[in-house]
Amino acid sequence: MAAKHSRLLVALFLMTHAAAAGAQTAPEPIRYTLNFPAPQTHYVEVTATVPTGRRADVDLMMAVWTPGSYLVREYARNVEAVTAAGPDGRALDVDKSKKNHWRIATGGAPSITLKYRLYCREMSVRTNWVESDFAMINGAPTFITLADLAPRPHEVIINPAPAWKRSVTALPEMGGGEHRYRASDYDTLVDSPIVIGNPAVYDFVVDGKKHSLVNVGEGGVFDGARAAKDLETIVKEDRRLWGFLPYDRYVFFNMITETGGGLEHKNSTVLMTNRWATRTRRAYLSWLELASHEYFHAWNVKRLRPAELGPFNYEDENTTRSLWIAEGFTDYYAEQQVHRAGLSTRDEYLEGLSNAIEALQTTPGRLVQSAEMASFDAWIKYYRPDENSPNTSISYYTKGTVIAFLLDARIRKETAKSLDDVMRVEYERFSGAKGYTPEEFRVEAEKATGISLKQFWDTAVESTAELDYSEALDTFGLRFKPAQPAVADRPAKIWLGITTRNDTGRLLVTQVQRGSPADLAGINVDDEILAIDDFRVRADRFENRLEQYRPGDRVSVLVARREQLLKVDVPLASEPVKSWRLEVSPNATETQRRNLDAWLRGQS
Ligand SMILES: [Zn+2]
Repeated sequence: MAAKHSRLLVALFLMTHAAAAGAQTAPEPIRYTLNFPAPQTHYVEVTATVPTGRRADVDLMMAVWTPGSYLVREYARNVEAVTAAGPDGRALDVDKSKKNHWRIATGGAPSITLKYRLYCREMSVRTNWVESDFAMINGAPTFITLADLAPRPHEVIINPAPAWKRSVTALPEMGGGEHRYRASDYDTLVDSPIVIGNPAVYDFVVDGKKHSLVNVGEGGVFDGARAAKDLETIVKEDRRLWGFLPYDRYVFFNMITETGGGLEHKNSTVLMTNRWATRTRRAYLSWLELASHEYFHAWNVKRLRPAELGPFNYEDENTTRSLWIAEGFTDYYAEQQVHRAGLSTRDEYLEGLSNAIEALQTTPGRLVQSAEMASFDAWIKYYRPDENSPNTSISYYTKGTVIAFLLDARIRKETAKSLDDVMRVEYERFSGAKGYTPEEFRVEAEKATGISLKQFWDTAVESTAELDYSEALDTFGLRFKPAQPAVADRPAKIWLGITTRNDTGRLLVTQVQRGSPADLAGINVDDEILAIDDFRVRADRFENRLEQYRPGDRVSVLVARREQLLKVDVPLASEPVKSWRLEVSPNATETQRRNLDAWLRGQS
């Protein structure tokens, strides 16, 4: 809070100062040049010309986190060999004043030239990667800027390695040659990844606006043409939902780098996948849903946003209670829009929604952490998971998806509107200079629909009470598939309440579910299970051994804990049976079937 306040004061001071002096209003840009003399060593060399305003010294800063990914990442750890010089080439003193700050004594020079190099070999949607084939440059871990963050253009000139033919970014070109870009301010620079190399690029136009799918690493396997064609239908479907495209140009960076993840930006997104993602239907659907999710963010979070997410404080945690809307609603619509675009079947859509419901309902942490608190604590919980996380926390993606489903059903049942109408109204109201609080989002939803949502909010959003699915199921004529009862030739599954992993033949406990037989009896995470009832149990035969018992049996489990052997007496239970798989009820009425059709076609 304090940092944001002082930044505002600096900005106000600069504006009034400039006006009083009758000076030019356009602030001087910072100009960066990126060089890749030896990309195979994973380095980019950065030269930055920084205007000083003739101050005696300037305070320079690198961000510690990337918006959209809520963890302090300490990007300055990859910075090396920082030097500074005046316009005459004379070296200036560089004082490393904080973990991510450098103070340069300018000697009164109007600008200084800063040089540093960056090690770039972390393959994630928020970090940098440089190798002989390509470079992926993200703003936060790359560009050292003036710490006051006063509004000023940031220009980037790229000198690609000789083997690289093109650079792609959503930043506008600056003119004067190839590979020259201009961000209107630091936020835009941080929000605009750049890929340099020889990617396969597929362009398509919707609403007169150019969209590009930029594939790095297709390897003759990933079907880029098909992916671009299907992305176009998703873009058109989102255009239909919102009524407009909120940008001039949009880039899907698809890094086919044998890993996963996605990060949203205002005019682009970075996706990570593997080269087989277009080969099987299931894998392709998850890629489409990932792209759909990140693309939906162009509206929900990049423009319609929680109040706390902008202007960003790049040097500290920025907490918000609204990630269940920003991420959860986005996840709900990611799959909705893929389905509405005709790219998934009804069964596939219901299976995805069932997965979210089942994940929530089988996570004990749902009774500990509310959707709002899951959002607020993302920095210390969601992004720092440990073996106890499922017992104490939930995912705001998952619970947010389920809340969106229940809310959509409530609105469709009680009004002639839908959650789509609410999202459009929220966008109108909160996509400008000021974002929303959860309460403001609720009040706006109430105005849009004419119904009170206070009780829904109190329960679903702010409390840890169990969610009630009956209204949503009734609205759409759905039911949870009846669970199959245990019978003689299909006995109840034995349940200990642990998850294990096979560590080259060693059977290690990785999680213990709160309140389960193993938890109450005292089996611990990291215990190595050696034997049950004095008979050796091998890692790959554990499930099979449990099948030899019946619920109610007591077993003696021999474990090794920090090299010491001990026996734990465990009463065996049967696995809790409750189905969370949605299906259309065979008794659904005409009205319910009509509601279901309207919902899945995106009609109110
Ligand atoms: Zn997201």
